[in-house]
This record gives sequence, C-alpha cells and structure tokens, in this order.
Amino acid sequence: MTEQRVAIVTGASRGIGRAIAKRLAADGRHVVCVARSQGPLDELVSEITADGGSASAKTCDISDFDAVAALVEGVAEEHGRLDILVNNAGITKDNLILRMSNEEWDAVIDTNLKSIFVACRSAARPMMKGKFGRIVNIASTSGLVGNSGQANYAAAKSGLTGFTKTVARELGKKNITANCVAPGFIETDMTKDLPAGVIEHIKGVISTRDLGKPEDIAACVSYVTSDDAGYLTGQTIAVDGGMTMC
Ligand code: NDP
Repeated sequence: MTEQRVAIVTGASRGIGRAIAKRLAADGRHVVCVARSQGPLDELVSEITADGGSASAKTCDISDFDAVAALVEGVAEEHGRLDILVNNAGITKDNLILRMSNEEWDAVIDTNLKSIFVACRSAARPMMKGKFGRIVNIASTSGLVGNSGQANYAAAKSGLTGFTKTVARELGKKNITANCVAPGFIETDMTKDLPAGVIEHIKGVISTRDLGKPEDIAACVSYVTSDDAGYLTGQTIAVDGGMTMC
C-alpha cells in the first residue's frame, strides 16, 4: 500500500487541473494526473518528479462512464488507497438556448455532471475503506448565477452543487468530505478566445478588477483537500475575485 495520500486530478493536462496537480504534489500527495492527451500529462509528471514530487499519468475520456469507473477503481487497487478525488475536467459547448442542439446539451451534461457522479460513486468505497476522503468538484460561477449562452454548462455546474451536498450528507459520517470550488473567470484555454471587449466588461464586475489564475483555484483546493479541512463539507466556495459574492 502506498504510504502517501493518493489523489486523482482530472483535466490535469492544462489550465486549472494542471495547477491543482502541481499544488497537490507540492503538498506531498501522490497525484494521478488524468486527461485524454498523453503528451502533456507525461510532461507534467516529469515536471512534478523533477521538483521532488510524486505523480503518474493515466489517459481517460471521462465522457466514457465505464472508463471513468475503471480508472477510479484501478487507481485505488494499484495504490491500495484513494484519499482525494478532484473532478476538474470539463467542457463548454456554448449557444443561446434558441439554437442549442440536444447534442450540445447532452455532451456538456454527460462530461460535466454524469461522469462526476460515476467517479464519486467509484471513489466512495475505497475512501470508506480508508476511513478518509476529500472530494472536490470544480463547479463554476455560471452555475451559481447563470450565464447567457451557457444553459447546458450552467445546468451541469449547478447540478454539481446539489449533488455534492448530497454526497457530503451521505458520506460525512465516514470522514469523507465533499465540496465544490466554483471558479470565476480564470486565464486558461477555456477563456482565451473571449473578445477583448468582453474581458474588459468582465474585469469591471470583478471586485479585484482582474481575471484569476489557475494557481488561485489550486490554493483553495489545497486547503479543502488537506487533513485540516475535515469540518468543511457540503460547501460551494466561489473563487472569483468577488464577482458573485453569493
Ligand atoms: P481547459 O479547457 O483549459 O482544460 C480542460 C481540461 O479538461 C483539460 O485538461 C482537458 O484535457 C480535460 N478534459 C476535457 N474533456 C475531457 C474528457 N472528456 N475526458 C478527460 N479529460 C477531459 O479548462 P480550464 O482549466 O479552464 O477548466 C477546468 C475546470 O474549471 C472545468 O471544469 C471548467 O468548467 C471549470 N471552470 C473554468 C473557468 C475558467 O474561467 N477557466 C471558470 C469556471 C469553471 P484533454 O483535452 O487532454 O482531455
């Protein structure tokens, strides 16, 4: 059995997930970095290892539910434990509701909500066995206040908050916490194509007047997954520069 706490971070090949993986490795976890692209994951593992951390890479398409279950169960079996699950991978397929296709709706709900249910269900048993668990689901301020053009995404992310509270209620007595971290606008590939005018408008409604960095989210996830955070559960923490304050 691996001595270190073992963490799975999905969507670790870039952006917020990459920063979370690096931060949890710096916290002393063994981090299993998950995404579809092998190359960036291998680079990340090399970087973490060079910095003295411990990590491994697993490719998985999280919209394949059987593959998600096999991944989570396989990691728990390989290491003899699973302590931390960060469901970060997510996609957007934006469109106004009048134009949104059933396929756009389903793709976002499947990847951003259903796959996370499957991952959490698979993680529950090994976490119960280990009498410890920290589940963090990366939601979004879109799920808290809505966002024009994102009916599918906001529904999935809002769904995550209710789902996560339920997981927290069901598993709390087993020393397993479940929380959402809801980023505001963070500088990643997901936001890089927003028009300059939109970015300026967004900055105007953010109290700190700037977009966030992936490391801002990683710092919050670091605390929520720590041994010290055992009394924090069922919460959705918005890390958004004071944009929503809800
Ligand atoms: P990016 O688009 O930069 O990265 C997405 C990550 O998810 C990549 O590592 C990608 O890897 C992985 N991914 C996507 N689809 C799949 C899939 N089907 N199977 C496995 N991995 C997948 O996104 P961000 O870093 O910006 O976002 C991370 C999370 O934060 C998402 O859940 C997003 O909704 C949320 N968020 C982001 C905000 C922002 O402003 N950036 C704001 C609010 C929430 P690969 O392509 O290699 O599979």
